[in-house]
Amino acid sequence: MNSNGMRGRGPLASGALAWALAGAIGGLAAGSVGPAQALSIDVSLKTGTGVEAAPAGVLGAGALLDIAEAAASVWTAALDDGGAGTSFDIEVAWGDLGDASVIATTYVGTVGGGAKAAGPAVIGASTSPSIWFNSARSDWFMDADPLDPSEFGAAETIEDGAGNVTGQFFVAETSPLDGVLDMFTVMLHEIGHAIGFLDYTNSPFDDGGVTIAAPLPMEGYEVPLDTIGGGHVFVPLTPEQESLPPLQQLIAAAQNNEAYSHALFFHSIAAGERRLPSLMDLVAMAQVVGYELVDPDAALILAGGEAYASAEVPVPAAGLLALSGLGALGIAGWRRRRRG
Ligand SMILES: [Zn+2]
Repeated sequence: MNSNGMRGRGPLASGALAWALAGAIGGLAAGSVGPAQALSIDVSLKTGTGVEAAPAGVLGAGALLDIAEAAASVWTAALDDGGAGTSFDIEVAWGDLGDASVIATTYVGTVGGGAKAAGPAVIGASTSPSIWFNSARSDWFMDADPLDPSEFGAAETIEDGAGNVTGQFFVAETSPLDGVLDMFTVMLHEIGHAIGFLDYTNSPFDDGGVTIAAPLPMEGYEVPLDTIGGGHVFVPLTPEQESLPPLQQLIAAAQNNEAYSHALFFHSIAAGERRLPSLMDLVAMAQVVGYELVDPDAALILAGGEAYASAEVPVPAAGLLALSGLGALGIAGWRRRRRG
């Protein structure tokens, strides 16, 4: 499904891959302090071969490195490695990715005896992933204050039929924000791959999903996953849908089960949407890689120590995701029709 289809990468292509964010990050309620965390994520700008200047004409004045640092802070606020001393030195860069449908690509390298730096192999290791964002596109939103979602509408959450939070997101209400890709969301998704949520050799989710085990929240939950080109939340297609072109397959997958289509680790991104890791995204990450949640009881999405969800409005799964038709998809992926 990914444009390059290479193992060891976590490419994200709008229109080719859509995912949603939502959820419940391990909560640092404002003013509270979480336990000491051994997980370390440092970010820096890559230099050298292939690095391009930021594309002209993007929306917003945010810098790539600042957005990367904000996204890293969300992950370290949510995840703990149990004191193993896991560290990532992530380089981020703009580059011409060669395929206009690709948004970003993550390279993770190897650890130890040549194992892919994904899954449990990253726990306790020190690795240097790199994440490339497509400079050939100009439809980016570079938020100068990514931990403040005020440019978007009120926070929305998705729950499945059992009350599990599988998506938390914001939708732009006005143009041009409603037509561009939120770099903060893409960064969160790709850093998620870089810190271990990716297909790897002998993956426990090669069979199409991972079952959440105690002591994690959502014990027994089966998160549907697809390992093609990287770990993603996905929903099986019907045989008829599997004959559709890739973009239409993603639309169909989103429609098959709206409870998953706003997950951070869903395959593709919608224009004008900001997603955060949902509780489902977090427990899937924790189960696959071996992280713990900083605060398993947290119910709100948090970023920068402040709850995003003060205006949180639960959205019933049914009827949530009405797609506005192929004409609105294009390279920006699917869009959700605004509810009246
Ligand atoms: Zn991805």
